[in-house]
Order: sequence, then structure tokens, then C-alpha cells
Amino acid sequence: MKIIMLGAPGAGKGTQAKMIAHKYGIPHISTGDIFRTNIKEGTKLGKEAKEYMDQGRLVPDELTVKILLDRVEKEDCKNGYVLDGFPRTIPQAEVLTDALGKVGDKIDYAINVEVPDKNIISRMSGRRACLGCGSTYHLEYNPTKKEGICDSCGSETVLRDDDKAETVKKRLLVYHEQTHPLMIIIRSSLFYTRSTVLWICKMYFRQLPIY
Ligand code: ADP
Ligand code: ZN
Repeated sequence: MKIIMLGAPGAGKGTQAKMIAHKYGIPHISTGDIFRTNIKEGTKLGKEAKEYMDQGRLVPDELTVKILLDRVEKEDCKNGYVLDGFPRTIPQAEVLTDALGKVGDKIDYAINVEVPDKNIISRMSGRRACLGCGSTYHLEYNPTKKEGICDSCGSETVLRDDDKAETVKKRLLVYHEQTHPLMIIIRSSLFYTRSTVLWICKMYFRQLPIY
């Protein structure tokens, strides 16, 4: 089963993507996580991506598409995957659809996690990310057991540079300009075959049919 998660930054799609991936035993693939791992490891890709990410901008399509296509070709993806944060632009969606189409495949579900902007801004300021493993928490809604320490790996949790209020506003703008138009395209099934079902989910995962 191949699923894509759509939604504004901070809508909570990462959390839901992980739960769905766990439920179906398929990998959760987050392009944001791949970039952050590369930044931590100091790779060339990481250095390039960081410049865009710190400004709340999207990493260019050429870079993003390549890492995503490399990733989905790995052995663990043969039964499907949950893509979190990809596609984020119309060209990215086209590349993915073409690559899948070449092997007679397609995305099965697109899940849109809708949250109003004002909730996102307040929510992001409370988000904390682990410096070690990338797990995310929220000061109020999903706190770590020990303040400032990751439950999974024991590293320090911090407010990510790109979660600071000014950057969040910029990211929301980028989302409305570049990512939201994808919804319209997916709805009209331009890129996705007729058999594709679109789940429009509101912000609470409890509304997902799988729970
Ligand atoms: P969020 O879902 O909260 O926006 P992500 O971890 O998905 O956070 O992404 C963090 C940043 O990584 C984005 O703001 C962007 O700069 C970059 N990024 C992630 N995925 C993509 C993508 N598909 N295309 C371009 N840039 C991306
Ligand atoms: Zn951790």
C-alpha cells in the first residue's frame, strides 16, 4: 500500500504517518527527516538543504526528487510506504506519478491533514524535536517524560530553528503557494488513476478509518 500524506507544516502529519506505517508494517519516509539526517552527518546534500530549510523555503525539486526516488527503490519499500512531506510541489507529484506509472504502479491513498493556520502557529511554538533521533514532542499535548530529554533515545529536545514563529509563517506561505494547489489536482484525479481513493481527514487521527 502506497500512501501520501498532505497537510501544512505542523499539521501533525508526521505523527499520523508514523502510526499508519506501524499499523501496516511499511516504512515511514519523511523527506524532512532525510534532510535533517544529512545535515547532522554534514553531507553535501545536508549543507545544501540546510540553507533552504533555515529560511523556511523548500529544498529545490531536483535534489528532493532524487533522494526520494532512491529511497523508495530500497528493498523495504516493496510492500509500500507512507510518504510524509513528499510530494510538496506539482513537479514532485508528476515525477512520482511518472516513476510509479512506468512500473504499472500508483499511489493508493492521499490523506490530507487539515488544520487552520492559527492553530498551527500556536502549536509549532510548543513543538520540541530530539537532536539525537528526530522524535517530536509537544510541551503541552505530547510532553517528554523527563523535561527536555527524549523518551526514545535520551538526547536533548529543542525548538527547531525552522519551528520559530517567523519561519513558521514563511513556511505556511510557501505551503499555500506551492503545496496546497496539489490538493486540487489530486481531487480532480489529473495525476492519479480513477481507482485512487482520496481520504480527506480532519485534524484528529481518531477519524481515520483504520482506528
Ligand atoms: P513539516 O512537515 O513540519 O514542514 P518537514 O520535516 O516535512 O516539516 O520539512 C522540513 C523542511 O524540509 C521543509 O520546510 C523544507 O525546507 C524541507 N523539505 C521537506 N520535504 C520537502 C520536499 N518534498 N520538497 C522540498 N523541501 C522539502
Ligand atoms: Zn531521541
